[in-house]
Amino acid sequence: MASEVLCGRCGALLTNPNAPCPRCGSPASGGYYGPGARPRKNPALAAAFAVIPGCGHFYLGQNVKGLAYLVGIAGLQFFGFDLDLTVIGAAVGVPMELGGGGLWLFSIVDAYRTAKRMESGGS
Ligand SMILES: [Zn+2]
Repeated sequence: MASEVLCGRCGALLTNPNAPCPRCGSPASGGYYGPGARPRKNPALAAAFAVIPGCGHFYLGQNVKGLAYLVGIAGLQFFGFDLDLTVIGAAVGVPMELGGGGLWLFSIVDAYRTAKRMESGGS
């Protein structure tokens, strides 16, 4: 399967994952914001939201990533769905050996770190 990446901000399909989104200009991963376009978020609040799967990333504006976490965590942890973990892993960048519980914890840490990165300005 081709490594297709969706824009974390507007959801456009990115043909080149390493190039900024052609539609909105957001970097491909959705986790990085260019100078002047960086929302300020509270890391503690992001982590608190992330206790509800995906909500930490919805709070951070990373709707695609949040949805991937929500589907992955809810499917694995609560419903036991046999999901295609490769797709989710590619979307959120998480090693899928972690399983549902590990993915849940990772999503909270990831939300915190992402907010921290937004807060610090990454300089
Ligand atoms: Zn975009």
